[in-house]
Parts: sequence; structure tokens; C-alpha cells
Amino acid sequence: MAPTPAWETVIGLETHVQLRTVSKMFCGCSTAFGAPPNTQVCPVCLGLPGALPVPNEAAVRLAVRAALALGCEVHERSVFARKNYFYPDLPKGYQISQFEQPLATAGSLSFLSPDRGVVTVTIGRLHVEEDAGKSLHDRFPKATAVDLNRSGVPLVEIVTGADVRSPVEARAYLLTLKQVLEYAGVSDCDMEKGSLRVDANLSVRRPGETALGVKTEVKNINSFAFVEKALSVERDRHIAVLEGGGAVVQQTMLFDSKTNTVRPQRTKEESHDYRYFPDPDLPPLVVRPDFIAEQRATLPELPAAKRERFVAQYALSQQDAAVLTAARGVADYYESVVHAGAEPKLAANWVMTEVLADAKDHQDQLRVPAGRLAELIAMVKGGTVNNQAAKKVFVELATRGGEPRTVAEALGLIQVGDTGVIGQWVAEVLEAHPAEVTRYKNGEAKLLNFFLGQVMKTSRGKADPKLAQRALEDRLTA
Ligand SMILES: [Zn+2]
Repeated sequence: MAPTPAWETVIGLETHVQLRTVSKMFCGCSTAFGAPPNTQVCPVCLGLPGALPVPNEAAVRLAVRAALALGCEVHERSVFARKNYFYPDLPKGYQISQFEQPLATAGSLSFLSPDRGVVTVTIGRLHVEEDAGKSLHDRFPKATAVDLNRSGVPLVEIVTGADVRSPVEARAYLLTLKQVLEYAGVSDCDMEKGSLRVDANLSVRRPGETALGVKTEVKNINSFAFVEKALSVERDRHIAVLEGGGAVVQQTMLFDSKTNTVRPQRTKEESHDYRYFPDPDLPPLVVRPDFIAEQRATLPELPAAKRERFVAQYALSQQDAAVLTAARGVADYYESVVHAGAEPKLAANWVMTEVLADAKDHQDQLRVPAGRLAELIAMVKGGTVNNQAAKKVFVELATRGGEPRTVAEALGLIQVGDTGVIGQWVAEVLEAHPAEVTRYKNGEAKLLNFFLGQVMKTSRGKADPKLAQRALEDRLTA
């Protein structure tokens, strides 16, 4: 008997997403990843006295697009505020963010929850801010180094309501968020490069209760897999405390992925009072209605809409449509194959198997041009090559390029549909296996597949399987 859950988990997520710009939020320094430490810095992002910030229009545009993609209301006037705290990787002593008047509020995002079907979470706010630098604890023995290349990199922070109900759901939300932001061209959302980071608020309560339990904040979650793990560990800790008669203490917990545990952040690392106030160096951020309208008009079709359209237009299953629309590049590629003349269902099968498998091994590159794949699919449909041979042609097209027909000919894979030639192969196989022929004639019908396999082997994969099967049946029942 499955136990009724004794506790309900309540989670809210704060996601920091790096905007895809070439320069930083308030200066012209490069945002390129992987440069030697402290080579992409200037007086502004080093926080030197007298340096003045100038907002990056490209970053504002991307932030507005992110807000619109999440169905937010974008405010024409928002205010940059200073968030004050002390940390070695924050040379100014404050981070420029937005507080009382954020860029956008009141959005939502629907995603497929493994537990509850389609769930819609509210996006309470989306605001623009700059990133801090990075402390490096493993560069020098017994010393911490600071790299300020990240200092001033543009981010949006996206804050949900307390609408998520399980760790696995938190992961599903994040994957959907990543998908939407990638589609909108806002960010590459690469957690390994730090361009998507997540903090979570978690509490538990008895099912049916409406008041929230005491929450803790979990930080330092740096991969999609760890989101689920870290929150499961913290949820279990809450439940154990409460069931042991104790009380949860409101605090910040750090997740350690090596030990799969959480520990409280040391209090001296904490900072409850950021003393926010409007940044006197920056006027309010004003985005005009026509600017917002232009961004809205140029947003691409988003994943959910594309998925539904694929189901309707190409008669695909929800499952297949979800796989094909998971990444925008793959969805566009699939449609190009169809537009080049391939039957939608056949094209879907090819893209979901051979194409995605090849892409996975080659940094997500789609190596066979869509038109070439359409030609190859047409060759299979027309009986010029069989499916197995076509897969070999595909590998050759991916590694060396060329035209499908020329490649198939060069590899000797053009299918033989000459019944005379097929008849010879069939005769050869039956002669070589008299015992099996007798067994087949005595009722072991499943041996037909064995004979067919032998014919394909004898023909080195070139026999048209349908014709070969017919020839076998004719001979064996004669
Ligand atoms: Zn700079």
C-alpha cells in the first residue's frame, strides 16, 4: 500500500541568468568566457572611485525579451538600486540591481510536472542586475584569489512564487525555463559556465495547511541534476527536524555536491540587511512602449506553441513533438528536412534517432544538411537503399559529406531489386541450409527470419528485403 504523503513540500526558485551580450552591463568590457583572470576589467567594473556606469542597451533589450517570453508585464520605468554587502569579489561594496521597482512583474510559466501534469508557476518578478566577481579557492595553496572578469556581467533574476511542490518539479521547471530563454535568444543557459544559477527557498507543511512552514534558502546548486538532489536532501532534513519535535531555523544552507549534503552558511557570510537604495549614478531605466512592442513582435515562436503546431501540422505524437522542439536548432532543422520534401513522420524518426545521436557525439552539431537527409529518406522510401544501408550512408554524409546517391553507390549499398539476382541468393541460402528447410516445412514458420537474415548477409545488405521475403516464401511453399 502506498503511504499518503505526510508532508507537502513548498519551493520557490530564484534563477540568475546571464544575458547573451558581448559586453558588460555598465561598461564596455568583454563578457567572453574563459579568458585569463582579471584581463576583462576597467575602472567601472573594478569599482574604482569616480568611474560612472552606463547601461548596456543590448542587455536591456534581452531582459525585456526574457520578460515578454515569460508573459510578464514590462514596466516602462524601473529603478536601479544598490545592494550593499561586503565580499572580496565585490570591489565596489555594492552590486547594482533592482529592488522596489523591477523591470517586470506578474508573469507565469507552464511546464510538465512529473507528479501533477501541466503546472503553471507565477513569475513574481524579473529584474536586471550585474554579476559579482569570482573567488577562486583552488588556485593557490592556502589562499583565495579573486577574478573580476565576471564583475559587471549582465544578469536577470527570475523569481517564482512558492508554487513548486517537489524537487523533481523544480528540475522540470528549470529545464522549461532554460528552453524558453534559449528559444528567445536571451541566454545560452549553460550551468557549467555559470550562465544559469539557481537558489531555492524550501519549506514543508502538513497536507491541507495553508500557512507556509519556516523556510530555508538553499544555495550553491550548480547543475540541473543537483537541483533535485539538493532539494531532496533539504526536504528530508526539514521533515526529520519536525518529526523529531524540533523547529526549522530560518537560514541559508549550502549544498555540497561531493558529499550530497547541506550545511548552514556561516553567519559571518550572511547578510540580512542589504540597505538597498536607488543608485544615484543611474537615472531610472525607461523603456518606451514602441521598444517593448518591437521586442514582442520579434519574439520567435516559443517551445509550447511550436510543440502544439508540430502535433497539428505534422501529425506527430506529443512525445515526438516534445523531443523535436526541445532545442530550437533541432526544431528548425526538422522543419527544413520536411520542407525539402521528406515525409514528416519519416523525417521525425530520422531526426530523433540518427541525427540526435550524431549531434550528441559532436558538440550538438547537425552535421548532415537538411536537404541531403531529405534525399536519403526519399531513397529509402523509393527502395533504392534499405534502412540499414541508409544508416551507413548517413554516417558517411556526416563525417565526409557528399551526395547520398553517390555515397551509396561508392559504398556499394544500392539495393538490388532484380528478382533474378535475388532468386539466386535465395537459392544459395536454401541449398546451404537443408536441415532448416526441412524444419520450416515441418511447421517452424519463424525460421523465415533466419533465412531472410542469411539472404541479407549473402547479398551484403543489398537485397531488397521485401522482395527477398517474397522470393523465400515462394520457394519454401513450392
Ligand atoms: Zn569594465
